[in-house]
Amino acid sequence: MAEGKNNHKEKLEFIEEMTKNCDQVQEKVLREILTKNANTEYLNRYKMDGATDEATFKTRIPVVTYEDLRPEIQRIAEGDKSAILAADPISEFLTSSGTSAGERKLMPTIKEELDRRQLLYSLLMPVMNLYVPDLDKGKGLYFYFIKSETKTPGGLVARPVLTSYYKSEHFKNRPFDPYNVITSPNAAILCPDSFQSMYVQMLCGLIYRIEVLRVGAVFASGLLRAIKFLTQHWRDLAHDIETGTLNKSITDASIWESVQDILKPNPELAKFISDECTSENWAGIVTRMWPNTRYLDVIVTGAMAQYIPTLEYYSGGLPMACTMYASSECYFGLNLKPMSKPDEVSYTIMPNMCYCEFIPLEKSYEEKVNGTDLVNLVNLEVGKEYELVITTYSGLCRYRVGDVLLVTSFHNAAPQFKFIRRKNVLLSIDSDKTDESELQKGVQRASELIKPYGAGIVEYTSRTDTSTIPGHYVIYWELLVKEGGKLPENEVFEKCCLEMEEELNSVYRQGRASDIIGPLEIRVLKSGAFEELMDYAISRGASINQYKAPRCVSFPPIIELLDSRVVSAHFSQARPKWSPQRKEKK
Ligand code: AMP
Repeated sequence: MAEGKNNHKEKLEFIEEMTKNCDQVQEKVLREILTKNANTEYLNRYKMDGATDEATFKTRIPVVTYEDLRPEIQRIAEGDKSAILAADPISEFLTSSGTSAGERKLMPTIKEELDRRQLLYSLLMPVMNLYVPDLDKGKGLYFYFIKSETKTPGGLVARPVLTSYYKSEHFKNRPFDPYNVITSPNAAILCPDSFQSMYVQMLCGLIYRIEVLRVGAVFASGLLRAIKFLTQHWRDLAHDIETGTLNKSITDASIWESVQDILKPNPELAKFISDECTSENWAGIVTRMWPNTRYLDVIVTGAMAQYIPTLEYYSGGLPMACTMYASSECYFGLNLKPMSKPDEVSYTIMPNMCYCEFIPLEKSYEEKVNGTDLVNLVNLEVGKEYELVITTYSGLCRYRVGDVLLVTSFHNAAPQFKFIRRKNVLLSIDSDKTDESELQKGVQRASELIKPYGAGIVEYTSRTDTSTIPGHYVIYWELLVKEGGKLPENEVFEKCCLEMEEELNSVYRQGRASDIIGPLEIRVLKSGAFEELMDYAISRGASINQYKAPRCVSFPPIIELLDSRVVSAHFSQARPKWSPQRKEKK
């Protein structure tokens, strides 16, 4: 254990060193990337001629989006193994939850990136230990899942970054670390069937209930799904614990093997679970089931903030720790004050992970930005918002991530950021991100089904409803029925819901296919509702001339107004089509 503590000291020193020498580290990172990738097609195209200095880089290399890199990425996916973006061979594609043409973006990665990600993970517990000591005296109950993977035409694996991590030797054969003991067996995490995976992770969590010191998932939405699962399956779980046998629905042989030594008849525990759950009073269930839980380890910043009240209800107000900020493109940084309140969370980007530049927000509204307008990590100003642009070891050069960050303070020379939002995202339940044009296309496609009734959509807006678990999209429609026409019946609206879902991107449809997102709902409004919405906005200072109906609403009084004008509500009755195979839309 002493070794663990020494290791923590070293890691904390590393954070200090990185953040004190932020500028030099960034310069070194850029030099390393440019030296290593000097002979790539991409850097040659922009005539870097082997230069590794910042000034040449900033004048010659353009700032790009995924769309700009599409042709290169396509070639890699099709099997071109030449050094297009990176000198190192591309080991796999990480499928981002950000989409392009309806499909997940493919992020090429190289083997050594896994070490960099591992390094960032290794900094989390040393920081947490400063605020919550003695986490080495118990276990963490974490709900982790893998998702399906595919192969590109060229034979490279394409899968989400966490699936890649859980399947890596780094995770599977991790050395014993008393601060990172989790209740879930690897076999349960690695089981592709999400029901079996969840069942056994919950079962083990219950068996170790007294030892559990922290409960978590990657995102808040995932933890809520786990809690819902407990509320639905506690009888089976209690039965298994009482008898020391595993439910017949668990067919994965390696899962059976993994619980052999853990699952023993324990009628006392089974009775406790039944007594706690029979009343169906779920307030504070997390603290009742896992009484020694010190905090919830879940991301509740950004789109996940919508889940804070529900998590507070189930956990009886336990602190929520947001520990890191990361993406498929690169892992960026961590929260140096992990116990801060969700709305005060700031992440510190570790300067060794990638080379970072920032577009001041007013510039980022422009389609094309001038490469010399970008600001370096150390030159940011507190109180300003920026869009993050990265250059990675995997070969992304001046790539716009799409995240908008606000500088809140500095730790040594390193700025700390509040995550403000992802650009162009209107709706998000889990990792799905639906933008305005996708929503528009969905509404348009669905509106075709009501045309034969002489009905059309006058105006629409949307929001996420997280009072259900899983949460779902709600689309408000105000209709106009022509003379001689009629209001379509319920079944037609139900079909409209599904039709919209079919049009949404593959991350949304995958979420629906795996019950991570609930059925889409259309709420039909009384006529005149949007005019009232406009009156309300104008009464609060909106300009009459420039007023446009918002395509997404989140302000509670507006939601209340809309909900009070609902004449009927309709839900999708089936799941939209989804398969792991990519279908590029035209
Ligand atoms: P993906 O590429 O699918 O892994 O998604 C990465 C994106 O998730 C980031 O670019 C952010 O928009 C969002 N994200 C990641 N970490 C956080 C965080 N701690 N808080 C808020 N949003 C986050």
